[in-house]
Amino acid sequence: MASPKILVQLDPDSQASLFDAVVAVDSDVDHLLQYRQVEPAQVRDLVHGAIFTRGPKELIHTAIFVGGSDVDRGERLLEQVLDSFLGPLRVSVLLDANGANTTSAAAVLAAEQHVALAGCTATVLAATGPVGQRVARLLVQEGANVRIASRSVERATAVCDRLAQLEAPGSLTPVVTNDERSTAAALEGVQLCIAAGAAGIRLLPAAILDASNLNVAIDLNAVPPLGIEGVEVTDKAEVRGDCACYGAVGIGGTKMKIHKAAIKKLFTANDLVLDVDEVFALGRELGTN
Ligand code: NAP
Repeated sequence: MASPKILVQLDPDSQASLFDAVVAVDSDVDHLLQYRQVEPAQVRDLVHGAIFTRGPKELIHTAIFVGGSDVDRGERLLEQVLDSFLGPLRVSVLLDANGANTTSAAAVLAAEQHVALAGCTATVLAATGPVGQRVARLLVQEGANVRIASRSVERATAVCDRLAQLEAPGSLTPVVTNDERSTAAALEGVQLCIAAGAAGIRLLPAAILDASNLNVAIDLNAVPPLGIEGVEVTDKAEVRGDCACYGAVGIGGTKMKIHKAAIKKLFTANDLVLDVDEVFALGRELGTN
């Protein structure tokens, strides 16, 4: 009989995420071992606890999930996890701190239902946060010409410089959006807009959306006021004018599907590292329906 599936949840927050725990249970994990307030220096011993207990052939039944609300801290934990493996003595690992990987993947998968990403012009509003940066990364890798929007030209440029290291087929342009005029300019000649602003922050007024020639508008902010005025939180391919619209809840179904599939995939091998690109590829295999 196969060993039970153990998922080790590493979370830097004071409480390990209940959301992540429920998804783990719903993804057929037999035992969830939750560790909270995890610091990078503690990761090595935790990982060794996971890889030295079961025989090498049994490691496929143990996996690690790195979550929590802070994506930067999650990334540091993931680095430590990878550094702690010893050759073939390793287990598969998924990073989805703050849902950033699954959410960005779901948003880009929704967009490509309506517009060919290669060669399109896309604006990512508030592209400097963890979700926006990942959305921009996926778009430029698909060949889109991406405008990286921020209130600050320095922050937008820093994101462009970081993503330029990927040498992806698309292009990256920093744009400042700090008032209605600059926001309207950021949408000129654009087919796709994804708003990745902080919760409760309106980035795009209805008048600018209405005056645009967007084919797709996606808002990832679920907290009123919503990021794009005129796009409802539950919109899922809702056509408004000539534009297919998605709200955060409309994207959420695909996000949840990808999250669960990613947990299940962890138990198909002991050497998977599921970060944003792998999560996006998995989402593509699943489709958005
Ligand atoms: P974040 O880091 O909190 O904020 C993203 C960007 O918003 C910031 O970098 C900033 O960009 C801009 N911003 C912050 N305060 C602002 C203000 N007062 N006015 C204008 N712009 C402001 O967001 P995130 O964690 O990347 O998440 C992005 C969105 O996705 C959030 O709304 C979040 O709730 C949502 N989300 C949804 C799910 C889901 O499951 N549906 C999962 C994760 C996240 P600049 O300073 O560069 O302008």
